[in-house]
Amino acid sequence: MPLCEKTASFPSDTPFSRVETMRMTDGDVCNVTAITMSVHVGTHVDAPYHYDEQGMRIDEVALDRYMGKAHVFTVMSRGGDGVQVISADDVQRLDISAERVLLRTLTYPEYDAFHANFASIAPDAIDVLAERGVRLIGVDTPSVDEATSKTLPAHARCRERGILILENLRLEHVPDGIYELIALPLRIIGGDASPVRAVLRECSE
Ligand SMILES: [Zn+2]
Repeated sequence: MPLCEKTASFPSDTPFSRVETMRMTDGDVCNVTAITMSVHVGTHVDAPYHYDEQGMRIDEVALDRYMGKAHVFTVMSRGGDGVQVISADDVQRLDISAERVLLRTLTYPEYDAFHANFASIAPDAIDVLAERGVRLIGVDTPSVDEATSKTLPAHARCRERGILILENLRLEHVPDGIYELIALPLRIIGGDASPVRAVLRECSE
C-alpha cells in the first residue's frame, strides 16, 4: 500500500502523517521528513504481542518467516448478509504447497477509503491452514478478523497455531500461483507490528 496522508487506517488508530522538518528550499543542507503513524497503517506484519500480552515482539520474530515461497489464492468469501467470511470449506479445497499463504479476497479495493465490510477468516479455516503446514497468512484486508470484532478470534487462533499475520496486501494485480515473498519488518524493539514493503517475485519452480 502506498503510505501517505490518504492511506486509510482503522478509525480508532493513528493515521499516517508526514512533516518536512528540514527543507533545502528554506536554506537547509538537505531535506528531512518525520512521520507519525500507527504501525498497523498500510501493509504490515503483526507480532504475536499485538494480540497476546505474552507474545513475541516484532524484533523477536525470526525473519525467515517473512521470506520465501508463498502461495497466492483467490478465495471467494460468502455470506449474503453482508458479512463475508472465509470458511473452512473455502480453504479446504486449496492445493497448498507453501508454508506462506496469501488470500486474495478483493474485498478491500481502495487503500484510501476505510470500510468495515471486508472478508474475515473463520477460526476453523485457520485450523485447516495450520494442518496443511501454513506458518504465515497474508490478506488483502486490514485484519484477519471482522473490523468490529472485540475478541479477535482469528488472531487468537493464529496465535494458538503458531501462524504469523501479514495484513493490507495489494493483490488485485497478482494472479494466483507460487511466488517468492519478501516482507521484512523493521527492527522496532518491543514493537507490536511493523510496516513492511511486501514484494512477490516470480518463482521458476
Ligand atoms: Zn495489524
